[in-house]
Amino acid sequence: MTNVAANIAGVRERIGRAASRAGRDPNGVLLLAVSKTHPAEAVEAAYAAGQRDFGENYAQEARQKAGAVRHADVRWHFIGHLQTNKVRQIAPFVSVIHTVDSERLAAEIARRARGAGRETDVLLQVNVAGETQKSGCAPDEAEAIARVVADLPGVRLAGLMTMPPLAPPERTRPHFRRLRELRDGIARRLAMPLPDLSMGMSDDLEVAVEEGATIVRVGTAIFGARETA
Ligand SMILES: *Cc1c(COP(=O)(O)O)cnc(C)c1O
Repeated sequence: MTNVAANIAGVRERIGRAASRAGRDPNGVLLLAVSKTHPAEAVEAAYAAGQRDFGENYAQEARQKAGAVRHADVRWHFIGHLQTNKVRQIAPFVSVIHTVDSERLAAEIARRARGAGRETDVLLQVNVAGETQKSGCAPDEAEAIARVVADLPGVRLAGLMTMPPLAPPERTRPHFRRLRELRDGIARRLAMPLPDLSMGMSDDLEVAVEEGATIVRVGTAIFGARETA
């Protein structure tokens, strides 16, 4: 049996140690519990342990789970690749979408958020390493997209997200640093705060926190291994 409460405590400790190494306040790092493939019961166990932010990757699964978990203070984050035609399914309940990588997708999210009477936080997903086959905009496209998204009513551009190539944590550090530098530059040139950096997962969250992550997305270290399809 996975002890979700103990795992959350362990992850919070890891965040705390990394934050203090970096001279940061651990409260400046949001722990996002990635519940994809795990049942609503797992979300309930985490909720009982004080967890409020949950991440999902698939629109239909997210919608079902959001329907099953009925706490008004849960915040759902969408962190999977998002097709424009799926936005409608998640717009009514999602608080944050981490995977915006085009103006077209952002415009659809904004339209659906307004239709649902909401404002949705969005992050631009950047393919920092320029991997083929990977979602996310190119680093040199990010600023132009950010400019457009920042002006869309219905969404609030909160920052950037990345999912670097799978590698040992120290090999990932340059990619996290690059995302932070990209964010700093865009925020300065657009003269707007872009507070959030969504980066780091179960295996490399310490490095991400040291490089400035404000949201770490953690699945396995909280809920245990996922069954592979
Ligand atoms: C699944 C997933 C995670 C969580 O990964 P773990 O290694 O299980 O912590 C984080 N971010 C994204 C985008 C994911 O798809």
